Amino acid sequence: MAMQIERRYHFYAAHRNLGLKDKCARLHGHRYGVAVILRLPYGNSGITMKFEMIDQQLKPIFARLDHMTLLDESDPLANILGKEQSILFGFPTSAENLAAYLLHQCRHVIPYCSELRLQETDSATIYVDANDLLEYPRR
Ligand SMILES: [Zn+2]
Repeated sequence: MAMQIERRYHFYAAHRNLGLKDKCARLHGHRYGVAVILRLPYGNSGITMKFEMIDQQLKPIFARLDHMTLLDESDPLANILGKEQSILFGFPTSAENLAAYLLHQCRHVIPYCSELRLQETDSATIYVDANDLLEYPRR
């Protein structure tokens, strides 16, 4: 028998997507809300995995991005901000790409992570399922 556990986190970050010729190409920030769904075996113990254990593994993934500027490595702004203020990715930092990246990171520390939802705005949330991960960038 298995059960699904949802843990929620958030981080604040700036980004821009120069490939888009609209407002998203301008530097701006979001409060990213994250929900990680773990599909865990449920046995006689009455628990799946202690929430505290889950948080210990997953929180650092989001803390690393908090109050940073998330940039495609080809963005010229990367040279100006440097490593103290920016984190570089090998892909545009769209919500879709970030969601896939984050789920990959979560699965690296807890393979039971089966789905991740990344809320970028009040009206836009990305859902990514582990079964679809190979279709997305992983760096
Ligand atoms: Zn944005």
